[in-house]
Amino acid sequence: MNIMLQTAQDTIREAAKKLGYDEEKIQAILEVEAEHIFEVEAGGKKYPAYRVQHSSKRGPYKGGIRFHPDVSLDEVRALATLMTLKTAAVGLPLGGGKGGVVVDVRSLNHGEIEELSRAYARHLAPHIGSQKDIPAPDVNTNSQIIDWMIEEFEAQIGQADPGAFTGKSISRGGSEGREAATGRGGAIVLGEFLKSKKNDKKPLTVALQGFGNVGYFFAQTLRHMYPNLKLVAISNSKNTWVKTDGVDIGDHVGHIPRPENLADLAAVKPLPSDAIFGVKADILVLAALENAVNSKTMNQIGADILVELANGPITREAEKFLLGRQKIILPDVVANAGGVIVSCLEWQQNTSGEKWSEEKVNSELNDILVKATKEMILYSERNHRSLKQAAFELALERLQ
Ligand code: NAD
Repeated sequence: MNIMLQTAQDTIREAAKKLGYDEEKIQAILEVEAEHIFEVEAGGKKYPAYRVQHSSKRGPYKGGIRFHPDVSLDEVRALATLMTLKTAAVGLPLGGGKGGVVVDVRSLNHGEIEELSRAYARHLAPHIGSQKDIPAPDVNTNSQIIDWMIEEFEAQIGQADPGAFTGKSISRGGSEGREAATGRGGAIVLGEFLKSKKNDKKPLTVALQGFGNVGYFFAQTLRHMYPNLKLVAISNSKNTWVKTDGVDIGDHVGHIPRPENLADLAAVKPLPSDAIFGVKADILVLAALENAVNSKTMNQIGADILVELANGPITREAEKFLLGRQKIILPDVVANAGGVIVSCLEWQQNTSGEKWSEEKVNSELNDILVKATKEMILYSERNHRSLKQAAFELALERLQ
């Protein structure tokens, strides 16, 4: 079993035991409802493809499709399982699923990527749809790929079903606010947590690992909505930049800048990428990749609060170590749920034939995340649990 699946199952098992579930009940939660294992062809070559449908207890399966050479059935199972917990943790009327194709997209041309995407949707057509399973983009898949998939899917079923996929382009029925949703949601969860600790008036410093889609929109949201949170360091896969009087990331319409191109960092000497862990800041936001904080890096963490914006950026060993040092971890299942929440709002707009403004989408996102964060904090305080344990136990109770 791969580490990610093991970690997901161990975390669920631990939460289920606290709730007093017996082994039979735990097994029923861990079991996937359906798996589709097939091959898709593009450019004359065949690639292994998967769709795992973990749970539809709360609504249609929901989850992204990943194109990556490291995709495996176990990884897709892990991500489908975690999606079930995530949608339940924030109270969405959706279940958990995930898809993937084992392929290095850099080896395909534009036409072959389209062929692959259409073949994937064609194969799954009988098993997906707005009331069954709603795929979305993930690593190396985007709105263009989803547009091809929904076109192919609708051709197969012979009718329109605009809510069958989310993450579509705006002209194809995608939602305003989707691109920024995960980073924005992370800032909302952090802001709500600090408010609950009566800490939102005091200026605090923030170090940010990862400056891609999630990290950039997190930083933009701090800039516009949380003036008391000062960004003092950012990093990417190559470097860390520290500026203790605050990093001004500026406004960039239509593109995400690279940190090395930010005017405010021009005079800052870059440090190695791993230097981000030891930066003197109150809060460390992990928006890069899984297992970033592990047995090798956990000793370097200076921050008191960590925010999991990537999926699983803290290993279980490092989590136990950090909790033992009284650090607070805002868990991924709530902190990075902004993306799936706006996906859910896209689906609701599509199935009701409505089109919401960005303001309305952002306001709904805010309401859902504030409620979920408050519930998680309350449960954690009442039952003496870490925030992650609280989020998992609340999710399991909603999956009864
Ligand atoms: P992205 O590819 O746009 O950006 C990733 C960033 O991480 C880049 O700045 C990259 O340079 C940096 N990075 C990579 N390796 C690093 C390292 N070793 N040290 C420091 N920085 C490193 O990806 P993204 O869409 O921003 O996603 C980031 C994470 O959030 C991923 O784990 C993803 O699975 C997760 N996530 C994304 C979404 C979403 O809506 N995009 C939703 C939920 C979770």
